[in-house]
Amino acid sequence: MGSSLDTQKELGISKSKNLGYEYKVWNEGGQSSSKDDLENRPVLVDLLKEIDEGNVKHLFVFNTDRLSRNDLTWSVIRLKLVKNDVTLHTSQGVYPLSDPMNKLLLGILSEISSYDNQLRTERSRLGKLNRIKKGYWKGGPPPFGYKIKDKKLIENKDESKWVKFIFESYRDNHSARWIKQELLKNGVFTRRKNPVWSLGSIEKLLSNTQYSGYYHYTDKKSGETIRVQSPAILSPTLFKNVSDQRKKRTRQTRSGESNMKHFYLLRDYLRCGQCGSRYSGRHYERQKRSIYYCPRIERNYVNESTKKVKKCSNRRYLKIEETDKLIWNTVIDILTKSNLFKEEVKSQSMIGNSTHNDKKDDIRKLSRKLKEVDRDIGEVSNTIVNLETDRILKRRDSTELSQILTNVETYRVELESDREVIKDKLYHFESKKQWVDWISKFSDRIDKMSEFSLEEKHEFLNGVIDNILVSTLDTRTHEVIIKFKIPYVEDSIKWNDKSNKSKGYTVKDGGFEIGVEIDTSKKFVPK
Ligand SMILES: [Zn+2]
Repeated sequence: MGSSLDTQKELGISKSKNLGYEYKVWNEGGQSSSKDDLENRPVLVDLLKEIDEGNVKHLFVFNTDRLSRNDLTWSVIRLKLVKNDVTLHTSQGVYPLSDPMNKLLLGILSEISSYDNQLRTERSRLGKLNRIKKGYWKGGPPPFGYKIKDKKLIENKDESKWVKFIFESYRDNHSARWIKQELLKNGVFTRRKNPVWSLGSIEKLLSNTQYSGYYHYTDKKSGETIRVQSPAILSPTLFKNVSDQRKKRTRQTRSGESNMKHFYLLRDYLRCGQCGSRYSGRHYERQKRSIYYCPRIERNYVNESTKKVKKCSNRRYLKIEETDKLIWNTVIDILTKSNLFKEEVKSQSMIGNSTHNDKKDDIRKLSRKLKEVDRDIGEVSNTIVNLETDRILKRRDSTELSQILTNVETYRVELESDREVIKDKLYHFESKKQWVDWISKFSDRIDKMSEFSLEEKHEFLNGVIDNILVSTLDTRTHEVIIKFKIPYVEDSIKWNDKSNKSKGYTVKDGGFEIGVEIDTSKKFVPK
């Protein structure tokens, strides 16, 4: 047919002028038909790129042969044109592109590309999950107290000392508000470089298990939750103490005692005999009168066994001054008579610091063991991830792999239960140590206990008393039952040889409880 390239070019230009468009010429020279695939046609690729970018709306070719004689290449070109809404003109007029076959292909292609995207997302999700399982940080800013190194969390000493401070302060009965003030005073910045800590951020920090060595990560897609090891900043005991404290304080806040203006000696120990609630304290400024009372007379409560909402019928209250005195004197009376208590104080002052140091040694050993187990768990988790990868990639025989995986998983479960046991022991030892600290703090002042301040009395009671149950006997008489942590009540000494006391004795446990009638001060041992 002999249309020269120049003629074709002129035709195209005049066509675009007729239609009122700007034009650009893509000239492949004579090679368009010889090696007919995209790799060998840079000019065509350039054209397709501009089409994809939306810069071409009308395309003129002398003849569709000019675009390609290869079916595959021609299909690709047509799809790109349809997809980008380009009108194809030839010397014969507008070329129809939107036939059913093209539509079908276009549909399939878009399905394939969305499938590709899903695969990519899935692969990156699994990759992320695996990295987290291996102990890499999940992303985002590290929690306060940590920094990120080699994509893992490590302790940030400048911050972690404040994490310890916050936990210890909370354990020692300071409020979140007080902690907030201290942080502000000391110029401690939040993760977001804010000098003012919100109470919420302090609460959130106090509940972050990461500081005790692990956190839970939930994969949004599968809902799978994994437990991830994380470097511990705090001893498990400190963390547990604080979480116990938090539970206790939340309960108190719920019973409407959040803003405590007065210090009440017994409020934490008194329980309503009727409904089981913790007692509240109230001070009447004008009448100069303070009382303990069951807060449930003010609000409805749900009886746990019947699930019925009702108010507590215990409308009686206790005068604080009188009750404090009576209970304090009763406790001191029991302790002074208690052989067990004397033994504890004596052994403490005799053996003194040596048991204390033993305990410290035990604690140190256990802490070291805990670290080892943690490291083992980390390594085993790694192994599991690698084995799972092998299985997915079919690198090894799958039955053999499943067997190994089962074994390793079992091993990990064993390690984790070991870990729990060690943590329990550590907790036990540390509370024992706290008890010894408590005894040594008070032992040389046992005879001067009447001089204790209210706060000292409170701390002292905390060491010996579990709770105090208040019940109403009749309209005039209340009965309180003091429950001790150790069976001090009327314990006794059993001599190994009554005629020869130098042969020593054993102390026989007494009861845990002593009852007192408030109005008559009559003491009795409850059945
Ligand atoms: Zn009650």
